[in-house]
Amino acid sequence: MSASRSEETDDLLATADTHVPLSCPSCESAHVAQVLGDNGGVSYVCTSCGHSWS
Ligand SMILES: [Zn+2]
Repeated sequence: MSASRSEETDDLLATADTHVPLSCPSCESAHVAQVLGDNGGVSYVCTSCGHSWS
């Protein structure tokens, strides 16, 4: 277990990371799933209260 990750790589990933923590606009829960819409777009569904938005 030699955890010697490059800090430079971490910095680059921090800005390019697409895992932005989303929160539900309705209940502010962080349990948000990203789903594909009918028209190929991306929308989000809160798995906590069921609210969906895009
Ligand atoms: Zn919610």
